[in-house]
Amino acid sequence: MSRKYNFCAGPAALPEAVLNQASQEMMDWQQNGLSVMEMSHRSEAFVAIAKEAETDLRELLSVPENYRILFLQGGASLQFAAIPLNLLGESNRVDYLNTGQWSKKAIAEARRYADVNVVASAESINFSGIPSFDSWQLNEEASYFHYTPNETIGGVEFNWVPEIGNVPLVADMSSTILSRPIDVQKFGLIYAGAQKNIGPAGLTIVIVRDDLLDLARPETPAVMNYKTQAENDSMYNTPPTFAWYLAGLVFKWMKAQGGLEFFEALNRRKAEKLYSYIDSSDFYSNPVEKESRSRMNIPFILRDNALDKVFLAGAEEAGLLNLKGHRSVGGMRASIYNAVPEEAVDALIAYMKDFVKLHG
Ligand SMILES: *Cc1c(COP(=O)(O)O)cnc(C)c1O
Repeated sequence: MSRKYNFCAGPAALPEAVLNQASQEMMDWQQNGLSVMEMSHRSEAFVAIAKEAETDLRELLSVPENYRILFLQGGASLQFAAIPLNLLGESNRVDYLNTGQWSKKAIAEARRYADVNVVASAESINFSGIPSFDSWQLNEEASYFHYTPNETIGGVEFNWVPEIGNVPLVADMSSTILSRPIDVQKFGLIYAGAQKNIGPAGLTIVIVRDDLLDLARPETPAVMNYKTQAENDSMYNTPPTFAWYLAGLVFKWMKAQGGLEFFEALNRRKAEKLYSYIDSSDFYSNPVEKESRSRMNIPFILRDNALDKVFLAGAEEAGLLNLKGHRSVGGMRASIYNAVPEEAVDALIAYMKDFVKLHG
């Protein structure tokens, strides 16, 4: 077996220790004589797995008692529709901030259900930063305000939480959740697809304040209805059992490593290393304004894009996988989530230096 370093934006690298444990438990989970994949979601064994995962996530993120944690399917993209359906209430007006490709998708989907006010947009600066808070045209009557704390494609991340008064703050944390401590109380709703920093694809986490559970439009499908799912412990229908179990193993692994403080320090170190090398080089560059650079997804371009293919082929040969940038922006992107070890970043920088010697 030879595992390589995986810089994929998602589905992304998983901790080796977790994969090992899952493989040991694959055929026979804790002497129950079957795999977790084969268990009834209503069985005592699986209900215990599910509860423990929730408890560990609650502890990791310090989620207060008055928030429900839901384990759902459909990805963050389904939440783009579920959020307006569940949170609009009597109103029809919602606020969205546009900081990149994922914001845009969330806005487009919300427009099917609501009157979307885009409070500010970074499109005119090619999504290279966050529009200054002073310029946001917030609506105090909005049902909620939505933003994307980390734009996975553009590599733009907030290192602050918007203070917007009483309007519930809704955040697509797909690619930043669990990368650092957050104050959950500042949010009305947090959601994240699992396949970046939580576990395998197929699971979506929603953390929602319980006073927001009574606002769903009557036409909201039952599986998408937060209250229905909360009342049924996320088992209104069959949940993604194996992904839920694997996420639970990731939460345990994170706790054993030292929790979110540990990962914040590690992630900061990893990102600083890579940015400082990119900034010191005249061969590589990153277009994002310094104070809004992502710790999780680091796009970079080569001075001569004719070399992109050569760079990627050489990287693969060196055991560095999935460095190709998103098709909408080109260039390269290194996603360095929690499960990507510091050695992977060191190996990437070493490869980048060698590449400059050969082609610079
Ligand atoms: C990956 C991603 C999504 C889409 O997730 P799906 O699970 O594919 O629906 C949405 N928002 C952000 C910020 C992402 O990184």
